Amino acid sequence: MPAKGAPRVSNDPSDVLVVGGGVIGLSIAWRAAQQGLSVTVVDASMAGRASHAAAGMLAPITETKPTEEALLRLGLEGQRLWPDFAAELTAASGMEIGYRTQGTLAVALDNDDKADLDRLAKILAGFGIDADALTSRETRQLEPMLSPDVRSGLLVPSDHSVEPRLLTEALRVAAQRAGATIEQRELTSLAATKPSTTVLAAGCWSRALARTVGIDLDVRPVKGQVLRLHDAGGRFLTRTVRGVVNGSSIYLVPRGDGEVVLGATQEELGHDTTVTAGGVWELLRDARALLPGVTELTFVEAISGLRPMTRDNTPIIKRAAEDLIVATGHGRNGVLLAPLTAERVVAELIGVTA
Ligand SMILES: Cc1cc2nc3c(=O)[nH]c(=O)nc-3n(C[C@H](O)[C@H](O)[C@H](O)COP(=O)(O)OP(=O)(O)OC[C@H]3O[C@@H](n4cnc5c(N)ncnc54)[C@H](O)[C@@H]3O)c2cc1C
Repeated sequence: MPAKGAPRVSNDPSDVLVVGGGVIGLSIAWRAAQQGLSVTVVDASMAGRASHAAAGMLAPITETKPTEEALLRLGLEGQRLWPDFAAELTAASGMEIGYRTQGTLAVALDNDDKADLDRLAKILAGFGIDADALTSRETRQLEPMLSPDVRSGLLVPSDHSVEPRLLTEALRVAAQRAGATIEQRELTSLAATKPSTTVLAAGCWSRALARTVGIDLDVRPVKGQVLRLHDAGGRFLTRTVRGVVNGSSIYLVPRGDGEVVLGATQEELGHDTTVTAGGVWELLRDARALLPGVTELTFVEAISGLRPMTRDNTPIIKRAAEDLIVATGHGRNGVLLAPLTAERVVAELIGVTA
């Protein structure tokens, strides 16, 4: 990118460089290439990239805290785009993305949890969103492997899920089919880039890259450890189940192929990506309180990812300089918000380059 005030170096006004090939960068690249823009993605496959570890819940309702109303509104807007996005991407890539629409069941283990679910149900009613309050018995009729200690539940039919690794691969294929070029390399500075517009979508690494052109971004890494388990019988869970155990939020997300993702820790440890014995223990301990049979599942993988978090938990999607658009800081909701982010960034690109 040229220094402020310097002439543009590219002759092609539709020339876009996307820095970062996670779900955010690739969604933007696909949608921008579909618009006829000439798109190049650079990606360094960083250890700890969030899209590789994510659980893939498309869950603005059960993932948002009651205090995060702005995030809830944004998430609901993002959620509305998902059914068409999923269908179009599956057709464009010829690949399955593990999109599941069985809903999410939030469960309460004690009176405090039950009060939280009641509060959530009230907020949802205010938004006109369907959610079914369930007794302990009704909850276990839906998911028989749940602990008898579960006191009540809230079924949110509209909180869905997707398989982020399949999604990333499908986005890569769809972007390339639409004409985008993907380069496997690390970019050390934005100052050296020459397209008419650079889109910075480098997850938690965006801050360091923005600094190379004198821009400060409020994005930091928050580590999340997750376990991937396998349910050989295929009957352990039908839908995403989540709850709060010992003050920590815990979720189990089933996939069509018998995989169950169990997450996630939230740790402020900079760019550390270590998987710790303590992290694995806490996840299993808490999951067992909800679903005692979880320890019977086959262990497949323990992995950590770095969420690109902002202070207010809402993403940064904005033009930061004449030739720089930033799309990062999606925190816990980047998979959910990928289609919406792509739509907003492409609108900005077309407005300027068309
Ligand atoms: C454990 C965990 C569970 C999660 N669960 C969910 C969930 O259920 N639902 C949900 O919506 N979200 C979830 N998230 C959040 C979601 O994963 C992120 O918000 C989202 O993946 C961010 O995407 P991204 O493309 O911005 O970043 P990333 O996926 O981190 O991608 C950034 C990319 O930039 C590349 N890069 C970085 N620096 C450079 C450089 N200098 N040069 C070239 N390339 C570079 C990296 O290689 C990487 O591929 C979860 C996250 C974690 C960690």
